[in-house]
Amino acid sequence: MKILVINCGSSSLKYQLIDMKDEEVLAKGNFEKIGLEDSFLTHKVKEKKYTINKKADNHEIAIKTVLQQLTNKEYGVINNLDEISAVGHRIVQGGEFFDKSVLINDDVIKKIKLCIELAPLHNGAAIKGIEACKVAMPGKPMVATFDTAFHQTMPKENYLYPIPLRFYSEYKIRKYGAHGTSYRYVSQRINEIMDKQGKERKIVVCHLGQGASLAAIQDGKVVDTSMGLTPMGGIMMCQRVGDIDPSVITYMMEKENILPRDMVELLNKQSGLLGVTGVSSDFREIEKAASGGDEKAILAIKMYVEKVAEFIAKYMVIMQGIDVIAFTAGIGENQIGVREKICEKLKVFGVQIDKVANNCRGEETKISSENSQIEVWVVPTNEELVIARDTKKLV
Ligand code: AMP
Repeated sequence: MKILVINCGSSSLKYQLIDMKDEEVLAKGNFEKIGLEDSFLTHKVKEKKYTINKKADNHEIAIKTVLQQLTNKEYGVINNLDEISAVGHRIVQGGEFFDKSVLINDDVIKKIKLCIELAPLHNGAAIKGIEACKVAMPGKPMVATFDTAFHQTMPKENYLYPIPLRFYSEYKIRKYGAHGTSYRYVSQRINEIMDKQGKERKIVVCHLGQGASLAAIQDGKVVDTSMGLTPMGGIMMCQRVGDIDPSVITYMMEKENILPRDMVELLNKQSGLLGVTGVSSDFREIEKAASGGDEKAILAIKMYVEKVAEFIAKYMVIMQGIDVIAFTAGIGENQIGVREKICEKLKVFGVQIDKVANNCRGEETKISSENSQIEVWVVPTNEELVIARDTKKLV
């Protein structure tokens, strides 16, 4: 059985074709700049990379172009589209409607649309991807996997905000979290690779990418996570603000006459590491600047480390202990120095890092020393595989 996994952004379409027999990725790629003149597709088959410059005005043209590459006479990996058994879509926001993946039907589409308000760019794009696949592969079974679904186990005391409760009952304003598919993969992996000793572990996963969050997972269920109503809350991110005193926002708006939509843009795109450093939103650039003595870059990294460590400390209390901390996503998998600094902060909990083991990038590795009271791991995430597995199960 071959499953096509689709992850649509507002101007991008990432995909993987996975053979579920051995979970091998047959081909993958990314269509970028959809809607612009210079849109292009990067398609990879094993080590080989193909760049297709194609103007795609919309996601429908993009998906058609992707399917043409998958069936291409020269480097295609399937003979025809009938070989694709089903399509799995990544959906960012499922609200309170979905606590697991589901087969897509009209009712599911209606509910995904109802959640657009909470994730306008992401859910809007996902709908475009679903509609485009419907046109390109009529009748093909499709599954929706939600980033918020895994977080639906959070108890009320952790997902409600201390605002008048009618805002929750009337508008469903609450913490939804994000990166749930990544948390599912990493926490399951941790439970697989470690001796279970008859019980599920208390795990903190740090998904540190461009967008970043942490989750506390006990007995396989999320009990708390750092992201909130939208992916702007929680820890400081590459360009997103994370949690701050709410009156900072109204104060800034009053001082400079900033409109709400411009404020959202400022907090979403010009804050975080970028806002503090003025250098870049890419951690590699910030690290380079810091090692060259740039004081703002050094400060920004300190702030970042502090925020991550704060959430881990919070989860220590919420779960009454932590057995494993796992780092994943771009920064978590690759930034050796950041992992080391975070673990240094956690010495108070008996965390001891093995500096030699920590000298790794993108590999599943235990990075804590034998004496550490909490095991620390690097586990590369694989959200696409979770979506493909769910899709296989449902069809
Ligand atoms: P993601 O959103 O998971 O792709 O993560 C993006 C972030 O990860 C960026 O800030 C990058 O600087 C960082 N990152 C990605 N790859 C590497 C790498 N090989 N070495 C260091 N940092 C990386």
